[in-house]
Amino acid sequence: MIPVMIYLFIFIIGLMVGSFLNVCIYRIPLEKTIVKGRSYCPSCEKLIPWYLNVPLLSYLILGGKCKYCKAPISPVYPFVELLNAFLVLFSFLIYGFTLTALFLSILFSILIVVSFIDLRHQIIPDGLVVSLLLLAVVHAVYRIGILNDPWQLYLIGFFAASIPLLILGLIYPDGLGGGDVKYMAAAGLFTGWKLILLALFLGNIVALFYFIVLFLKKKASRGTRIPFGPFLSIGIVLALLFGYKLIEIYLGMILGY
Ligand SMILES: [Zn+2]
Repeated sequence: MIPVMIYLFIFIIGLMVGSFLNVCIYRIPLEKTIVKGRSYCPSCEKLIPWYLNVPLLSYLILGGKCKYCKAPISPVYPFVELLNAFLVLFSFLIYGFTLTALFLSILFSILIVVSFIDLRHQIIPDGLVVSLLLLAVVHAVYRIGILNDPWQLYLIGFFAASIPLLILGLIYPDGLGGGDVKYMAAAGLFTGWKLILLALFLGNIVALFYFIVLFLKKKASRGTRIPFGPFLSIGIVLALLFGYKLIEIYLGMILGY
């Protein structure tokens, strides 16, 4: 009974952090402050009272419309809250009540902000890459210092996926942005080289499937551009949550055990 309550608590914290992530996604590209200022309706600009600013619940109670002007509220807001809550929950379910789970929760929150800004504006702001880099350094110091991971794992991780992307970007300047390269460097310093290579591989598979679906629906042609950041993020999340299991299964298949 008690663990269920703790997980419910973690889920609610995840929703609340998700609500803050929405503020970041909306304000960082506009270069507005994320720490000051109350939430307001982007349509009628009325301030939203605190009791209508409850994550997820407010959206459901208001039926997805502003209380004052009835303008529809984007379903992206509750989606981001739920996505963050589930990723935080999975981190703690898979890694237990450990510092690793806490590190992953913070990482996933940054990945969500990066992905949704990239989807909307086709940029990965440098400030977010720097935040990711700082988190990665603290995480690597913890893993190397306390858990005795080899330092090479993280140093090579910084270059393992970013260098191939950099070379690809030089060959096809239209396909990849410098933001993607910096993003994978910082993420690789967090995950280490094994998991960042897996992340790059998985991200490409998901992107490929997405493109095939778009192509079959005739919504994409060869020249269609989609931001790569969200796919890299999906790859990183999958690699961190299921990576060692996937590597085990893969080795099992080729080595027969
Ligand atoms: Zn309104």
